[in-house]
Amino acid sequence: MFDNPAFDNHEGVHFFSDEPTGLRAVIAIHSTALGPSSGGTRMWDYPDSHSMVTDVLRLSQGMSYKNAMASIPHGGGKAVIWGNSKTDKTEALFRAFGRAVDSLQGRYWTAEDVGIDTADIEIAAQETRYAAGLTTGDAASGDPSPVTALGVFKGIQQTALRAFGSEDLNGKTIAVQGVGSVGGYACEHLAEAGANLVITDIDQDALAEIAKKTGARIVAPDDIYDVDADIFSPNALGAIINEDTLKRLKVRVIAGGANNQLVTPAMGEFVRRAGILYAPDYVINGGGIINVAAEISGEYSRAWVDQKLETLIETLGSVLDTALESGRPTNEVADEIARARIAAART
Ligand code: NAD
Repeated sequence: MFDNPAFDNHEGVHFFSDEPTGLRAVIAIHSTALGPSSGGTRMWDYPDSHSMVTDVLRLSQGMSYKNAMASIPHGGGKAVIWGNSKTDKTEALFRAFGRAVDSLQGRYWTAEDVGIDTADIEIAAQETRYAAGLTTGDAASGDPSPVTALGVFKGIQQTALRAFGSEDLNGKTIAVQGVGSVGGYACEHLAEAGANLVITDIDQDALAEIAKKTGARIVAPDDIYDVDADIFSPNALGAIINEDTLKRLKVRVIAGGANNQLVTPAMGEFVRRAGILYAPDYVINGGGIINVAAEISGEYSRAWVDQKLETLIETLGSVLDTALESGRPTNEVADEIARARIAAART
């Protein structure tokens, strides 16, 4: 594992197996320099244990960066459970997972991620208090998507300000990929601000609902890259900015909530050379983890969330400004600031 390219001096990588329930899980703690680590749990049917470990190493490092940029008192961690989220879920499995989380005695806080819903975390929470993203309880923060979407909307305004000289989105054409939880709420904010929306999704019902609410024009999933738009907002999948799609995009801004938008970090430089200003994904989409952090603090306060969201948007602004002034890709600048924040906390 130490020679895995995704290994970044993680503080701890913990393997759990529980024969009676079939649990096979890994919890990676990348850093606790800024506070206890937090990050969701992913359930995925990995082809082998190597891919599972690589995934948790990469994701936990990403959470360290995301949490550092969101200015919350948390380090980065992540959990992965090996299994099919449609067929392998049982109450006993999530109870065993809850005990695994609990054994780390608060060095890692869990929440939902791909393949895991609130019901699963509620079960795990019966075995540990280090679980968040709950819907019941005094500090429960519920669905983080509205806060993520609000941050995405404000982040689009800030990116537009640098690319077009104004944060006014009235009359701007915005191509939105994915109108699920985050994309759907973001579309409502964008339409309210007067943007012309062009949307796509593979879910026809979600598309129809958002088109009705916002007056958006619908295009087929693959046509979203060719839309004559000012801004492209990815809110569905990762790795969608690659050599092929970059050639097709006519926009001046890429800003959306999806995780891991660039196929590789090196794409950031190609995006810059194409004259496109890219809002680094883990900065612009930090609203959700801020909402979860409010719950972890033990006392959910919307005012605290809003204040952290404002700080996040200022941080995004300074990443964009530094990148523009120094002629460097925005993702590289964001990584550098995140690493510096973690290093400063360590000393
Ligand atoms: P979601 O599942 O509610 O929405 C995703 C949408 O994308 C769905 O409507 C789905 O049908 C659509 N989609 C899937 N494949 C597509 C394709 N090929 N073309 C177009 N649309 C497609 O998920 P979400 O919670 O809205 O998350 C969206 C993205 O934002 C994910 O990358 C997620 O990791 C990221 N994110 C979410 C949050 C949050 O608070 N929910 C926080 C940070 C980051």
